[in-house]
Amino acid sequence: MTGRVERALLLTFDDRHVREWAAVAPLFASYGARVTFFVCEPDRLDRDEVRLLRGLADDGHSIGCHGLRHERAPDFVSAHGPAAYLDREVVPALERLRRLGFPARSFAYPCSARDEETDRLLLTLFERLRGGVPVGRRADPALADELRVPARDLTARRVLPGCSVDSGRGAVAYGDDLGGVEAALRRTAEEGGVVTLYAHCVADAHPDNHVTPARLDGLLSLAAGLSLPCAGFDELP
Ligand SMILES: [Zn+2]
Repeated sequence: MTGRVERALLLTFDDRHVREWAAVAPLFASYGARVTFFVCEPDRLDRDEVRLLRGLADDGHSIGCHGLRHERAPDFVSAHGPAAYLDREVVPALERLRRLGFPARSFAYPCSARDEETDRLLLTLFERLRGGVPVGRRADPALADELRVPARDLTARRVLPGCSVDSGRGAVAYGDDLGGVEAALRRTAEEGGVVTLYAHCVADAHPDNHVTPARLDGLLSLAAGLSLPCAGFDELP
């Protein structure tokens, strides 16, 4: 199923919340949605999490890499050098995922921290990278221009900007205004291309960054209403 998507919402989930992700697999299936899970600390997955992750991959979802210890790429490169970044933070994570049977063709930057040097380094190992726009932008309707990647640019664009749709973290709520995200979805539905969003855990409440199932359902419903398919990173051209 790879290589044909030119008009899609790319919904992505980061870190290692495998049980919570697997719990909403029926929600994704009900919309015919495929998404991408960017996994960090793959060496710390227990057997049950590996089994659940395999189930998500078998459902057609993409599994990507999010680093071994969730290091901020530019900081790690500054402190230890580019070779150490790949050798200690990236290659061991990629090899672990591949040994578990996940090709992991894409990488999402922890904390969206990236620069041109880290892009160059990581593109020797991955087909695509996901960066991010500042969370405060997600209410701004002008975000649509920044977030949408036109179909004609998709083959060349290897770094896709993502926008957070998390609901909150611990007791902190991030606010309900997703005006910029919704504008980006509408624009993408009309003009084609892809728009990338990210969240972390899926839960009504969680100490880590999380999106509520209700918000996730709302986003999937909006995309479905716009006839905008929801696809994984491994389906990109
Ligand atoms: Zn992360």
